[in-house]
Amino acid sequence: MPEVYNWQLGRKMHYPYAERHPRSQFAFVFNINRCIACQTCTMACKSTWTFSKGQEYMWWNNVETKPYGGYPQSWDVRLLGLLDETHRKAARNAQWDASQQRGSAQAPYGTYEGMTIFEAARSGDRRDQVALGYEPTDVEWRSPNFYEDTATGSEAVPDKLSMKPASLPAHDTWFFYLQRLCNHCTYPACLAACPRGAIYKRPEDGIVLIDQGRCRGYRKCVAQCPYKKPMFRATTRVSEKCIACYPRIEGKDPLTEGEPMETRCMAACVGKIRLQGLVQVGDDGTWKEDRYNPLYYLIKTEKVALPLYPQFGTEPNGYYIPPRWVPRAYLRQMFGPGVDEAIEKYSFPSRELMAVLQLFRASQKIVYRYEIIEGEKIFERTINGKPWVLYNDTVVGFSKSGKEVARVTVEEPKYVRPDRHYNSI
Ligand code: SF4
Ligand code: SF4
Ligand code: SF4
Repeated sequence: MPEVYNWQLGRKMHYPYAERHPRSQFAFVFNINRCIACQTCTMACKSTWTFSKGQEYMWWNNVETKPYGGYPQSWDVRLLGLLDETHRKAARNAQWDASQQRGSAQAPYGTYEGMTIFEAARSGDRRDQVALGYEPTDVEWRSPNFYEDTATGSEAVPDKLSMKPASLPAHDTWFFYLQRLCNHCTYPACLAACPRGAIYKRPEDGIVLIDQGRCRGYRKCVAQCPYKKPMFRATTRVSEKCIACYPRIEGKDPLTEGEPMETRCMAACVGKIRLQGLVQVGDDGTWKEDRYNPLYYLIKTEKVALPLYPQFGTEPNGYYIPPRWVPRAYLRQMFGPGVDEAIEKYSFPSRELMAVLQLFRASQKIVYRYEIIEGEKIFERTINGKPWVLYNDTVVGFSKSGKEVARVTVEEPKYVRPDRHYNSI
């Protein structure tokens, strides 16, 4: 099996196909700290792409409550269990080595020394699989929102309501919302698993699609995508998945007059937690330096947004700003060893990060570049013994063709309604 380089793992890994990369890659950043689980994103996708007969159980975008929720039910707990078992049998540990390499562009989170799902399939009893996985049962697909808003019990008094007030760095009783869609992975397990060669990754934007004409409904992608994002449609007997709203990415929506547009689930986000775009990729798979692309800045420069379960090995292109109040061990398992640095950066944001965070949902057009215009100091205080200052900077976003599409200040402007309105304050 060929070897490919996975920068999220800081090492080479096995993958059934030789390394080949798109010119640019569809990617997104979700700020978990801001999600209110309104499910507007979920319904935006559903009402656009999966409203027909046979698609009742298809939720290409879903928002689940962690740690207990998941769609399909317990998708990550089940796969983590299979991975653990494979490591145990092979007498290996699924550990990260956060050594000297850490912080470099080639290994920003250190090196993962455990097995990915591709390596685990080769090592374990499931040699019939390209990637370690399982096919969820019908019962597990029956509802998109198991355990909605269900918090953990307190560690000190399990199964009882904790009366302890919550405080950072980790709450005693906690839950959070995890927003999920296909990650349009760099090394997609769905594509690797398909015996029909029906799944492909587009060279222009890295979007992963299922060719409906070639698919025969064997459901290998359903079993082997670690994120469980391909879904089988019983009426047509083929699998379907998120298409990254590709007509929008291609600038075909009349609203944006040819400019690439953010997808339905991104553009509809009420909590302003989502920012989506395209990053430029070199022939060797590394992201080309693009310092003022907001995604490049958040993921590569500031390292405040992290991949979901990087240890699975598919190099997912969805990134998350981790929730501040959740116990770190849980977060490290979910987002890797970059969690502590990401939370530190997000909790005490730099001047630039504070400005870039304002770009979330500031425009329906994809922002390719930003500029910051410095404003005056509006607030200062000492946090953890260190001075912290807030400036009212303005961030300006530009589209693919270089047109200004967003202009937002750090301090939200106030508008006073004239007193001729009955409800003026
Ligand atoms: S629309 Fe935004 S805030 Fe609402 S559930 Fe989706 S991601 Fe969360
Ligand atoms: S998330 Fe799953 S379906 Fe999407 S590209 Fe990755 S492996 Fe394929
Ligand atoms: S990108 Fe488009 S197709 Fe994919 S989950 Fe979002 S709305 Fe659905």
